[in-house]
Amino acid sequence: MSEYLLPIEVLMEQFRKLPGVGRKTAARYALSVLDMSNEACEAFATALLDAKTKIRRCSVCNNLTDMEICSVCADENRIGVICVVEDAKALMSIERIRDYRGRYHVLDGVLSPVKGIGPDRIGLDK
Ligand SMILES: [Zn+2]
Repeated sequence: MSEYLLPIEVLMEQFRKLPGVGRKTAARYALSVLDMSNEACEAFATALLDAKTKIRRCSVCNNLTDMEICSVCADENRIGVICVVEDAKALMSIERIRDYRGRYHVLDGVLSPVKGIGPDRIGLDK
């Protein structure tokens, strides 16, 4: 028999799909949701769906954007140097430093022969 009621277990399983979230953290998140108002829960669910449906890849550099072209590619003051990064998270880390004024190419991860991830799976051809 489970420690939690089924709807809580189901919610915990959803949270466990997130990186770094184990069973204890998932339980804490699920129980926190129960303390939220219905309006707050709806806002949470809407934010999840909005992020998933409105965010896409920049057609130029593969960065995350809610437009056709991301803000970095749209910035005419950027110089022509291109920094190739592992993913959009790496780009955001570099942008937070506010020192790099070049452009980017965002890969879909890194090569991993052990996991069978070759150049064709990370967008290296672009
Ligand atoms: Zn871009």
